[in-house]
Amino acid sequence: MSFFEIIDPVFGRYVLGNAPVKQLATGFDWVEGPVWFGDANCLLFSDIPNNRIMRWSPDTGVSTYRAPSHFANGQTRDREGRLITCEHGTRRVTRTELDGHITVIADQFDGKPLNSPNDVVVKSDGTIWFSDPHYGIMTNYEGFKAEQENPCVVYCFDPRDDSLTPMVTDMNCPNGLAFSADESQLYVADTGRMFEDDPQHMRVYPVADDNSVGEGAHFHKIAPGVSDGFRVDVDGNVWSSAADGVHCISPEGKLLGKILVPELVSNVCFGGRAKHELYITATTSLYRVTLVTNGLQTP
Ligand code: MG
Repeated sequence: MSFFEIIDPVFGRYVLGNAPVKQLATGFDWVEGPVWFGDANCLLFSDIPNNRIMRWSPDTGVSTYRAPSHFANGQTRDREGRLITCEHGTRRVTRTELDGHITVIADQFDGKPLNSPNDVVVKSDGTIWFSDPHYGIMTNYEGFKAEQENPCVVYCFDPRDDSLTPMVTDMNCPNGLAFSADESQLYVADTGRMFEDDPQHMRVYPVADDNSVGEGAHFHKIAPGVSDGFRVDVDGNVWSSAADGVHCISPEGKLLGKILVPELVSNVCFGGRAKHELYITATTSLYRVTLVTNGLQTP
């Protein structure tokens, strides 16, 4: 069997015929939010329904990093290496300081609670961009069922003045997001509403130097499945979750190929010593595949 499906011959240069899609750990319920810590040689990821953040290391395998995690979902690191976490249960975004204490970055807008922050990226200027769909408050599965009080948007938090600004406001349910290499473009996935047939596509928005966001344009529609989470590589390709695995999409929005994964994929992140390994969170398991490209995200 092959772990890959080559749709455009270009994809062939990014994958190794003898590199497996390897299951590293399993037994979870719905995993998400992978983030690589090269300095600790480990990956953190969220097991959302079980209210915990897990740690996986090639040296010691899997262990619990934080429980309760307040139903943590998406995670990343800021430019100083600190963990940034989206929490459904507390409806907030937090930063874990280097001494371990937790700082709340944002938990409300316009005097009303956020919905359930889902995924997060940090720009090189230190601003923190996160999506705030309502998935974590729709049911008691990934948080606490509650009334929605703010629209589902992408916010930008600026630590220089502690401001929180809605940036992408034309989506039903913004979910995964990532910047292009030069940060002039922001990719955002709309995964529609869980129980309806609403928009499910990725859009790309121009971002100016002052962080103002222009009008979005269609980028790509994942099929089958949705683009819950994704990362960008050094060639500008977008590696996105899909129902049948991970799809590699060119900067022009063309599907180049697939990494086939036996479970529904939620998100990915690059890791390993050269950011050449793709870590894949997929329903009950964590997978990894070595690629012939390198991830963009820092640190
Ligand atoms: Mg997500």
